[in-house]
Amino acid sequence: MTAFSLEPAQLAWCAELRALAEHRLRPLAEKGEPGRVNRALVAELGTLGLLSRLFTSGALDLCLMRESLAHACTEAETALALQGLGAHPVHAHGTPAQRDRWLPRVSDGSAVAAFALSEPGAGSDAAALSLAARPDGPSGWRLTGEKCWISNAPDADFCTVFARTTPGAGARGVTAFLVPADRPGLTGGRLDMLSPHPIGTLRFDAVPVTADDVLGDPDGGFRVAMDTLNLFRPSVGAFAVGMARAALDATLEHTARRDAFGGRLKDLQSVAHQVAEMALRTEAARLMVYAAATAYDEGAADVPRRAAMAKLLATETAQYVVDRAVQLHGARALQRGHLLEHLYREVRAPRIYEGASEVQRGIIAKELYKTLEDR
Ligand SMILES: Cc1cc2nc3c(=O)[nH]c(=O)nc-3n(C[C@H](O)[C@H](O)[C@H](O)COP(=O)(O)OP(=O)(O)OC[C@H]3O[C@@H](n4cnc5c(N)ncnc54)[C@H](O)[C@@H]3O)c2cc1C
Repeated sequence: MTAFSLEPAQLAWCAELRALAEHRLRPLAEKGEPGRVNRALVAELGTLGLLSRLFTSGALDLCLMRESLAHACTEAETALALQGLGAHPVHAHGTPAQRDRWLPRVSDGSAVAAFALSEPGAGSDAAALSLAARPDGPSGWRLTGEKCWISNAPDADFCTVFARTTPGAGARGVTAFLVPADRPGLTGGRLDMLSPHPIGTLRFDAVPVTADDVLGDPDGGFRVAMDTLNLFRPSVGAFAVGMARAALDATLEHTARRDAFGGRLKDLQSVAHQVAEMALRTEAARLMVYAAATAYDEGAADVPRRAAMAKLLATETAQYVVDRAVQLHGARALQRGHLLEHLYREVRAPRIYEGASEVQRGIIAKELYKTLEDR
């Protein structure tokens, strides 16, 4: 495949995923409790074989899954993505024992994962994190501190936790730990957010961990975090593209049917041009997401720049497209329960998490100047 078109088999898979999202996953999502992990939904993603694909497919497949699920069921999309985000460090950096214990359960949906990097005092500046891992015995540590804005917390069955093993060493003093939820001293609370997203805080009160819980190398945790984010960033863009496409489809239908001024809304040139602009920007974002994911799968050198560009363009585009869609639908779009009311709430957070838009611009600029230095 090229970066510009999908194979017929990939297009058919996307159509199948959209149908599954609409008919099998949406009914389960609607029964979920807002702000809580929807275990029935996660289990169904496992039964459908989608969770195991998180560990057997590449970045492009991840993007196709996220885009297609988001088109019809954002809750299913997010549940899938969070399993991947929390468990990818185990898949890519875990020991055989860690992988054997957790990956089959993540894949069948019986264990829920979380990725715990952010703290009240360290969000964009993740290298400033302060959750302390203090030595305890010959090969252990005690974790003390707080994580916040952690998706799937506190319900998750295990978390990938990034803690400071070497004070004052910035990014080079961070270790990734796999922490099961039943460790003594680990508690958490829920946060009530704008989007219907299970998210909360984690409090660590001298939680014991050993060398067997380390993911990757001691003091090598920041690499684990950055590897994970390089894979997931284009796929956040794919989530955004799925939402933009859903908003665009709804707008096409609405403007083609809505009577106005003796014709239909679409007959007003300013309306038709707005729809064209929405489609133009969505298509550009979609292509950039596919190109970034393909670069990741090919092991290209410029993945950080491409991943940042794809995430930035797609999330900002989705915000624009959903906002335009609301405008062209008028009041009905703001009624609780309307697709666009839902998307309007969902579309905001991806511009902040996994690196805010400004942080992506910083990465792009840094990578550009690096190529100048390399000449
Ligand atoms: C719905 C949701 C889910 C989340 N899930 C998780 C999760 O599962 N795991 C996890 O670890 N974290 C998660 N987060 C946290 C998220 O990663 C952080 O919110 C994000 O990194 C930004 O950190 P902050 O909120 O502390 O904002 P700050 O770092 O305080 O930044 C605030 C704003 O300042 C500006 N800014 C920051 N840095 C720069 C810069 N370098 N240049 C220019 N401007 C800048 C940006 O406008 C930014 O939005 C989630 C957040 C949300 C909203």
